[in-house]
Amino acid sequence: MARPWNFSAGPSALPEPVLRQAAEEMLDWHGSGMSVMEMSHRGKQFVQICDEAEQDLRDLLAVPDDYAVMFMQGGATAENAIVPLNLIGRRGAAAADYVLTGQWSVKSHKEASKYGDVAIAASSGTEVQLDGKAQKAWTWVPPVESWKVRKNAAYLHFCSNETIGGVEFTDWPTAARLGVDDVPLVVDASSHFLSRPMDIGRTGMVYAGAQKNAGPAGVTVVVVRRDLIGHALPICPAAFDYANVAPEHSRYNTPPTYAIYIAGLVFKWIKAQGGVAAMERASIAKAELLYGYLDSTAFYRNPVHVPVRSRMNVPFILADESLNEAFLKGADEAGLTQLKGHKSVGGMRASIYNAVPLQAVQALVAYMQDFERRHG
Ligand code: PMP
Repeated sequence: MARPWNFSAGPSALPEPVLRQAAEEMLDWHGSGMSVMEMSHRGKQFVQICDEAEQDLRDLLAVPDDYAVMFMQGGATAENAIVPLNLIGRRGAAAADYVLTGQWSVKSHKEASKYGDVAIAASSGTEVQLDGKAQKAWTWVPPVESWKVRKNAAYLHFCSNETIGGVEFTDWPTAARLGVDDVPLVVDASSHFLSRPMDIGRTGMVYAGAQKNAGPAGVTVVVVRRDLIGHALPICPAAFDYANVAPEHSRYNTPPTYAIYIAGLVFKWIKAQGGVAAMERASIAKAELLYGYLDSTAFYRNPVHVPVRSRMNVPFILADESLNEAFLKGADEAGLTQLKGHKSVGGMRASIYNAVPLQAVQALVAYMQDFERRHG
């Protein structure tokens, strides 16, 4: 069996050694005679798996002790509601501010608006005509100094890597740069989690759906400063209240046990590769290769402002869009899969997460060059 190079935005490629280990352990985990799927979430074997996953993640991101790490359910979309349910009431005013840089932060903002007075601190959305319809293009990040953060906001939310637009925050602002005290940052880092060091201590909380860099779909990783826990709105479902989940180390109710196990194997794989610093070095090399080629030709184009181009998600369009179908068909035949762009922006998107090796990007660029030669 030949595995194609998989450029899916998520669920996406997993490290092959992780899949092999999971296959070997499928029927019998470490002599237990059971699959991880068959274990009680309160039994000592799963408790060990879950606690090790938590510790490995703490090691990878140097998570300070005053932060809780939780494995939750519902994806980042559910977390868009779980965040305000837990945090928006902490300062009485039920106010929160959102920075909009793409479709995922727009969704987060819309969801949070159900729970309080939610304002837009900054937005990079620019009106454009696409297929004859007025739409927003998202290609840059508003400078931190222009963000309008209210003093009474319970938190400030942004999405540090917009998976659809391919816009990545290079840095997370400090309180001093924002000019407000006690407005913790809440970061949706879903699509570049574990691809680079992240200064957790600068934030109030970071969350990420696992199905890009951290594991399979079905588990959301949540890292929250402990003093922010315990202020949930009365309507917050018990299973989503951090004050219930954190002290139980993600086992308040039945967690997604198998997804946590696979995520734990991915954490160990990242550690064995040299940690997030090694992931970052590899990501830089892959991104430089792909953007370098895109910028060298007029045949393809990436519209994102250069300093905030995502190292993980690289959208690009063909100058002649009538060639899109031929491009995708040829790519599939060359063993390069899931390159179709998000339906809202069209064109192509190559997601080059941790488990996608440099070799895959080399194969993609070689195919793109060849396609250009034949059609340019
Ligand atoms: N935020 C970001 C940045 C995402 O990329 C995604 C999914 N692609 C989501 C949120 C939503 O995640 P989920 O589908 O797990 O709810």
